Amino acid sequence: MRFVVQEHHASHLHWDFRLEMGGVLKSWAVPKGPSRDPSVKRLAVEVEDHAVSYLTYTGEISEGHYGAGQVYRWDIGTYSMIGDEDPLRAWRAGALKFNLDGKRLRGQWRLFKMKGRKEGDKPLWLLQKIKDEESVEGDEAEVIGESSKKKVARKKKR
Ligand code: MN
Repeated sequence: MRFVVQEHHASHLHWDFRLEMGGVLKSWAVPKGPSRDPSVKRLAVEVEDHAVSYLTYTGEISEGHYGAGQVYRWDIGTYSMIGDEDPLRAWRAGALKFNLDGKRLRGQWRLFKMKGRKEGDKPLWLLQKIKDEESVEGDEAEVIGESSKKKVARKKKR
């Protein structure tokens, strides 16, 4: 099964973390981006499922549309559930443990729902690295892209 992390320069910069399961992409918006530091738990706001075709999406969501702004492919690869658990079942139960095989994110990770915590109607989860040989202490998500406004400003300067 595949996963993707998209760096999304919407009204607020965030990283969209998406896992392919049950014919859709289960999705979370991670405001600070994933950290490979196992002592760090990153807030991951559950967002609506996306179509699997969105895995390879990059580019600009135009103004006036939901999530307007630049989308960059921050990481892409495959994942497998630890213990061969059924991913949809684990998602419903609010606790996922999986192995990532991407360029930036590798090794064991977990996503778990905070009981009873929501932002509006969106359940809140935490994303955390499980300590292994892929852990990196003090790790922060690298910003690889820029917002549309910055892009436009740069073009005008030329
Ligand atoms: Mn987004």
